[in-house]
Amino acid sequence: MTIHRLTLTLCLICLSLLTGCTHSDLVHQTSSIDALLQGEYGPLITVAQLKTQGDTGIGTFEHLDGEMLMLDGIVYQIRSDGTVHKRDNDTQVPFATVKFFKADQTITIDKPMPLANLYQTLDEQLPTDNWFHTFIIKGSFKSVKTRSVPRQTPPYPPLVEVVKQQPTWTFENVTGTLVGFKCPSFSKGLNVPGYHLHFLRDDLAGGGHVLDFQTNHVSVKIDSSRQWQVTLPDTKKFREMDFAKDRSKELHKVEKDH
Ligand SMILES: [Zn+2]
Repeated sequence: MTIHRLTLTLCLICLSLLTGCTHSDLVHQTSSIDALLQGEYGPLITVAQLKTQGDTGIGTFEHLDGEMLMLDGIVYQIRSDGTVHKRDNDTQVPFATVKFFKADQTITIDKPMPLANLYQTLDEQLPTDNWFHTFIIKGSFKSVKTRSVPRQTPPYPPLVEVVKQQPTWTFENVTGTLVGFKCPSFSKGLNVPGYHLHFLRDDLAGGGHVLDFQTNHVSVKIDSSRQWQVTLPDTKKFREMDFAKDRSKELHKVEKDH
């Protein structure tokens, strides 16, 4: 490193410390939801690279090996046997959405609310449906119903086939954190329009992709963003995929409770 470059780097570091702003307001996404639906479960980005794009988010792992939840820069894997693992920097990821979380608003919900009521209450707080909103919802829950997806081997089946055998859990009177996003309707095909949350128990004894919940007492932090970056896969499989089909019905089967 030359003296000039060193000086410039130090200045930039000082500037970021002074402004308190070290990261962009960008929502980063790896791959597209329609590629995941079509079985793109191969390695696309490492956890180390993901950490340069955000400290908060959700996704899955290579071979579709469970649900991912990222919180405070730590990547948790909730496997289909229900166990939770912290994953290291070398772990490979086929699909994830992450952001450096900076709350724009915090709301306390101190009365019990089922999922639909909480979403409606949050909708009233959001500045618009047409930006990306990241959520960290922490506290106590009367119940949380989740699922995880079992690890697959190539040739990978479509996600809609995998979820037919997905294990589900209902945690009652539990403390933990919901992490996830509300994406605009126009993100269809690329991400999941509407709410998509994952759950992690405080005691790390379970979690997963959220199918249903009822809150007890929670604090909701919301980070709204107008910037969205998608990195598409550079694989033969992706280059040859057909994206003409509308996969909304498939996505509904995969994401929601039935
Ligand atoms: Zn999910």
